Amino acid sequence: MLSAPAGPVDVAVVGAGPIGLAVAWRCAARGMRVVVHDPAPGSGASAVAAGMLSPVAEAYFGERELTGLLVESAARWPAFAAELTEASGTDLGYRTEGTLVVGLTGDDLAEAGRLWAYQQELGLPVTPLRPTELRGREPALAPGVRGGALAATDHQVDPRLLVPALRTAARRAGAVLVPAAVRRLSDVDATVTVVAAGCGTAPLTGLPVRPVKGQILRLRAPGGVAPGFRHVIRGYADGESVYLVPRADGEVVLGATVEERTDTTVTAGAVLRLLRAGVDLLPELAEYDLVEAVAGLRPGTPDNAPILGPLPDRPDVLAATGHHRHGIVLTPVTADLIADLVTTGVPDPLLAPFGAERFASTGSGHHRAEEETWT
Ligand SMILES: Cc1cc2nc3c(=O)[nH]c(=O)nc-3n(C[C@H](O)[C@H](O)[C@H](O)COP(=O)(O)OP(=O)(O)OC[C@H]3O[C@@H](n4cnc5c(N)ncnc54)[C@H](O)[C@@H]3O)c2cc1C
Repeated sequence: MLSAPAGPVDVAVVGAGPIGLAVAWRCAARGMRVVVHDPAPGSGASAVAAGMLSPVAEAYFGERELTGLLVESAARWPAFAAELTEASGTDLGYRTEGTLVVGLTGDDLAEAGRLWAYQQELGLPVTPLRPTELRGREPALAPGVRGGALAATDHQVDPRLLVPALRTAARRAGAVLVPAAVRRLSDVDATVTVVAAGCGTAPLTGLPVRPVKGQILRLRAPGGVAPGFRHVIRGYADGESVYLVPRADGEVVLGATVEERTDTTVTAGAVLRLLRAGVDLLPELAEYDLVEAVAGLRPGTPDNAPILGPLPDRPDVLAATGHHRHGIVLTPVTADLIADLVTTGVPDPLLAPFGAERFASTGSGHHRAEEETWT
């Protein structure tokens, strides 16, 4: 991506995380003139994210509409990954071995089982396994693990490969990067502006997007070999909920805390809890190198679902934000639906539950946010 063209463009995207870059790629590939603004592309939540594509294991009580969108986006992932790999010429670390959900103790298993029962009720593919079947699939699991289930369609991608690939694909499609922050939406000269600024969204729009801190670790199998397990493992260990994501190059991502905090410091207590739960489930992790301990800020919303579509009184400004724990899995569907909306002006019915207007009483409106910036 080079320098910005003079004069108004068709689409300005604010934020070059996975969401903004995917929207930019889709729009540029349709022949639109696209500019992406970001002082530090890929430096938001995606820089630390695990990359689980988990519509099934992340289907929680009371989030039916979000679950529907997650399922829809996960179904688009295989084609999206193939197309992006082709367009960027790079590997995304997209893997399809599936996910095991396990419980260490009887109580942990009961907790996990409550959720599978709900997920099965929704018709989602989750299959309970006996301990012998679990260990048949992953012999490295601790002998004490009481049981688990297979979510065969919950996959993974490496966000640290995904974002550069999106950047390359967007550039090749003709999108231009401006390496600077947008301070006010009125500074942007475009027919349509897409705000995909993650935790930077609220000051620009007044939308209720807040940072939700996540501490996360990266370990590495010794000797440069692949980890001793292939599935993504999500587990409950003595009441602690963790996940382990194995990469082909030997990396294991172990996460993550969910904290209502805005700092990105790493605490000893969080590292201790993550490591203890991880090693309880997979004892061999104790021999791995600990290579990184970081924290990122998820762009959360009051109902945990993203905000997709026009600002209430600004049809020319589209929000594509608030993806919270699910921005990686939701990248394909968000990019498709927002690019369609930009092109046709007609919202896909899938967008209906995710409009900004559902927060009309809480988000006091982007105009007020802009006015505050001016005074
Ligand atoms: C610990 C952790 C684990 C996670 N694991 C997963 C997972 O396994 N699966 C999953 O689907 N999701 C996961 N997520 C969530 C996922 O990372 C986010 O939902 C996703 O990154 C959101 O993408 P985004 O592009 O909207 O925002 P971000 O990735 O946060 O990017 C926002 C971009 O906007 C830019 N920006 C901000 N303000 C401005 C401005 N004023 N002007 C210009 N640019 C601006 C920033 O520089 C940044 O580059 C995880 C997150 C965390 C923290």
